[in-house]
Amino acid sequence: MQGGDLDITCSCGLFRARLTGVGPGSGSHLMCYCKDCQAAARHLGADDTLKPRGGSDIYHTTPSRLSIEDGAEHLSCLRLSPKGLMRWYAGCCNTPLFNTLPRGRLAFVGVSTPTLRADGAAEAIGPVIAVVNTSGAQPGPGTLRDRGFLKAGWQIMRRLVLEKLRGTARDNPLFDERGVPIVSPRVLTLDERRAATRF
Ligand SMILES: [Zn+2]
Ligand SMILES: [Zn+2]
Repeated sequence: MQGGDLDITCSCGLFRARLTGVGPGSGSHLMCYCKDCQAAARHLGADDTLKPRGGSDIYHTTPSRLSIEDGAEHLSCLRLSPKGLMRWYAGCCNTPLFNTLPRGRLAFVGVSTPTLRADGAAEAIGPVIAVVNTSGAQPGPGTLRDRGFLKAGWQIMRRLVLEKLRGTARDNPLFDERGVPIVSPRVLTLDERRAATRF
């Protein structure tokens, strides 16, 4: 399926990456309210990237679409705990960028959508199809309910299989060919983690 290219930019502009072929079917637009996503944003001082009630707006796609264009030296990575997700960010300005698993073997990457600053990005990634982990949402007006989990899960699995079939499952600019991350993640200390989750 043909799609457009989208630039990914940190808030200061020193780090730039690109997603190619973004269109219907190439990714899943999700909203995650889990406390870990909120804690990571808070630790970076990037609360302003969160949606009301602590939502993280994420475009879930395959890493073979991702390329780093500029400022790779600013790429940084943290983990909230030794077993937590890899949370990649731009160290120049602490902009959250990507979430991945600790190894590069499974072809998925969650892109923080506030980094997709180009006109037309919202149309390219489409509407939110799944809202997850609402039990972690901040108090606020209205009712939030999880929805779309199965649909998103199915889309993600389908893309994993397609990447395997195409032979592109290991094309991932964030990991080397052995599946080792190109930047060593820093695991937060317990004190740092506590500070980021106190809200
Ligand atoms: Zn920056
Ligand atoms: Zn989350």
